[in-house]
Amino acid sequence: MQRVLVVEDSKVVQQVLRHLSAQYLDVEVDFAWSLSECQQYVEKHNYSLALVDLTLPDAPNGEVAKFTLSNAIPTVVLTSKIDEYKRQQMLELGVIDYVIKDNRDSYHYAIKLVAQLLRNEGCKALVADDSKLSRSLMKQMLEKQLFDVTDAQDGQQALEIIKNNPNIKLLMTDYAMPLMDGFELVKAVRNFRGRDDLAIIGLSGAGKHGLSARFIKYGANDFLTKPFMNEEFHCRVMQTMEQLSLIADIKESAYRDYLTGMYNRRYFYQYAEQLLKKQQHNTLALLDIDFFKSINDTLGHEAGDQALKQVATLIKTTFSKFTVARVGGEEFAIILDDIDTARGREYLEGFRKKLAKYEFIIDEKPHSITISIGVADFQNTDLTQAMRVADAALYEAKNKGRNCVV
Ligand code: GH3
Ligand code: MG
Ligand code: MG
Repeated sequence: MQRVLVVEDSKVVQQVLRHLSAQYLDVEVDFAWSLSECQQYVEKHNYSLALVDLTLPDAPNGEVAKFTLSNAIPTVVLTSKIDEYKRQQMLELGVIDYVIKDNRDSYHYAIKLVAQLLRNEGCKALVADDSKLSRSLMKQMLEKQLFDVTDAQDGQQALEIIKNNPNIKLLMTDYAMPLMDGFELVKAVRNFRGRDDLAIIGLSGAGKHGLSARFIKYGANDFLTKPFMNEEFHCRVMQTMEQLSLIADIKESAYRDYLTGMYNRRYFYQYAEQLLKKQQHNTLALLDIDFFKSINDTLGHEAGDQALKQVATLIKTTFSKFTVARVGGEEFAIILDDIDTARGREYLEGFRKKLAKYEFIIDEKPHSITISIGVADFQNTDLTQAMRVADAALYEAKNKGRNCVV
């Protein structure tokens, strides 16, 4: 479990940071006012990251950063002003980055940086460069940003590594390399990993006109011209990774149903189609709430929503190992994959009974609800056909008097 420590002695600043942390970080965050309080926290917990103010009443000269770094906690520094000497000093100490506190946006930047670093933690990155020195420098810089870094000495080796490691999220590649150059590598990688799925930053020497722009045309997300400053490297990587995670968030929300938080019909169809391609055995169940319209008609639409949310929660928790989705107004689908037909039936029958006995609380009053379930087993069928069979079974379940599995 990741955990963050913030050390800041200004009441106002701490309040802003607390507010932003609640908004952007979904990990435990502890707030300390001083070096001594920070030391107490560090004794008690393991931290993934620290965000510390350089001047504290009991630590006026950055002692707190020295302390967190000496405890192997990756550290980002907050400072009210910074001169060139101090900047150099901080970076030499080994802090990841510093943020100058001069306006509200700097706190935003600081917390979003922390959020990105937390996402980087354990995330796999690959450095491809034929220069050993350049490789090890980039590796070091990425490790400081908490990536888990592998390296390759030419394009061909890099391509092999990416093929074998689908969880690599970032590739830093040089242009001039033996066997396969940076452009060829980018082109080859883009055949099977999209821009939103794997970030690529291309590197090339200055003076070679147009190289950097061509990197983008071949599919890189960004480029850097050598020689670059550490800070430039850091900012480019951070920004690129942040874009990737924003796109992932947008995709995720496009695939979710707003009311229940379940996957929606769009996701379900795409996912189920993929499952079918794997040609394994699958069971598809369609669940439909009985006489749902009457809940809306007698108690109102808002009460109907409460009922839907509660039914969705029961489905999610009961079938947590399987793919579940809300595919219609009061209709849900479950794919029970890799489980034999009889077991699948048992699960569904068990769930039907459990739900019928469950006490739903709608407008603070107890209610009971039942569902009808249509089931189809399929293998090597297309989804439309499987849905048709399950839908016919559901129709039959309704005709049989509802609250049953067909
Ligand atoms: P049956 O047992 O035959 O399934 O009857 P039913 O009333 O459940 O089915 P019907 O298809 O007639 O009605 C479904 C109702 O679900 C109609 C629609 O207004 C309501 N509904 C669909 N989506 C929502 C929603 O998001 N919120 C609420 N409150 N109601 C919804
Ligand atoms: Mg219904
Ligand atoms: Mg219906």
